[in-house]
Amino acid sequence: MAYQSTNPYNGEILQSFHECDAKSLELKLAQASNCFEKTWRKKSYAQRAAVLKRAASILRERTDEFAQLITLEMGKLIDQSRGEVKLSAAILDYYAEHAEQFLAPQNLPTKRGEALVESAPIGVLFGVEPWNYPYYQIARFAAPNLMAGNVVMVKHASNVPQCALAFERLMEEADAPPGAYTNLFISKDQVSQVIDDRRIRGVALTGSEAAGAIVAARAGQNLKKTTMELGGSDAFIVLDDADLEQAVKSAIEGRMGNSGQACTASKRFIVVESLADRFLTSFQAAMGNFKPGDPLEKQTTLAPLSSEDALNKLLDQVKRSVEHGARVVMGGERFDHPGAFMQPTILTDIDTDNPAYSEEFFGPVALLFRVADEDAAVALANDSPFGLGGSVFTRDIARGKRVASRIDTGMVFINAAASSSPELPFGGVKNSGYGRELSGAGIQEFVNKKLIRVA
Ligand code: NAP
Repeated sequence: MAYQSTNPYNGEILQSFHECDAKSLELKLAQASNCFEKTWRKKSYAQRAAVLKRAASILRERTDEFAQLITLEMGKLIDQSRGEVKLSAAILDYYAEHAEQFLAPQNLPTKRGEALVESAPIGVLFGVEPWNYPYYQIARFAAPNLMAGNVVMVKHASNVPQCALAFERLMEEADAPPGAYTNLFISKDQVSQVIDDRRIRGVALTGSEAAGAIVAARAGQNLKKTTMELGGSDAFIVLDDADLEQAVKSAIEGRMGNSGQACTASKRFIVVESLADRFLTSFQAAMGNFKPGDPLEKQTTLAPLSSEDALNKLLDQVKRSVEHGARVVMGGERFDHPGAFMQPTILTDIDTDNPAYSEEFFGPVALLFRVADEDAAVALANDSPFGLGGSVFTRDIARGKRVASRIDTGMVFINAAASSSPELPFGGVKNSGYGRELSGAGIQEFVNKKLIRVA
């Protein structure tokens, strides 16, 4: 069955779900469209905010229950799952509190009478979402758009169906009217049908470049706006004046959080030659401390990857990199332990013709590059098909800002690994996609900036 929960820690199949048939898909689309026209778009900001606030409270009251599902379905360490549930609640609250101000009508100075721009909702939106942060990804899409007066339909990743249903039930419990938030267990063909449907007015995808290209192309054929939050291979630059201890601590957070399965994980470690040996020694020692175990146990430090397939893909990628000349400093294999566990891995000696040079490694595999100086570090960071995030380590913040300005990505963090917060914009350039989620920017993507002019 296409939608299935399998615990990646022990391979146990937990639950399976049938895909929607054509009739039920039509009913859901009709319900969403009716909800938009007859109910949701007519609600005040305060009424919509009450729903989102209730959902946020439920997430906070029952954090453990929601967190457990994440850990069971995709293997995240339980403390990190709890953190994700709380962050999702914070996103719901943030838009409940700020949407009205972000979307307030703007008076425009003009010599041609009176003019104002209002931000009107556009209708039913369709989101295609990934498994790596099963609630946070949905909250980023649903919260701003619901507050803007749109309604949302979500096709979640097929390996996290219980989380998908839990979020839909959450919105029901929070008294969202039927059709305001709809989960869809649908096939890839049905994804195309939904995009084609005249009632769908915009499409957002978070996921791989491959899926993004297919979904964006389909939406393009239908002249529907999209936002794309895709993959990354973020540079982690360590300059000659960096605080090495801080850099190594952040390198571990950046590469090992969520077992390395984050779009903004630090993936390419670009270290100036003068610090490279010392950085590598400390980084390797810290990477060696991770031990596989049950992600539901608080003391476990290394979680499994999300599935056997994900592990096999990563192992193949490492093998191919080595065949093209990369050197394995540590790891490179699966753990001799049941479950989808990858050894923390460091690869060096990656030439420009190695596929690893331009691919994303979605797991605990770090690529280490040595460079002569700051200019070489920036050139290497920018020599990537991706442009999502990145980090710069230096004791001189002004220098850090200058370097950050030269990096072609959507986000740069000085003296920290990448992180996310409701009030800060999230998104990329190049093959990492386009558009922004979160912050004031995230609520402007799917609204009609309508000019109203009085002669
Ligand atoms: P994926 O395979 O692209 O899956 C993401 C979503 O797209 C899932 O719901 C998936 O459904 C769906 N999908 C896949 N192929 C499709 C197709 N041909 N037509 C329609 N829908 C399709 O991505 P993933 O490997 O699960 O997730 C990891 C990727 O997401 C990484 O590249 C990561 O960097 C990126 N990501 C980006 C961000 C960001 O904000 N920039 C955040 C998180 C993750 P099924 O599960 O049914 O295949």
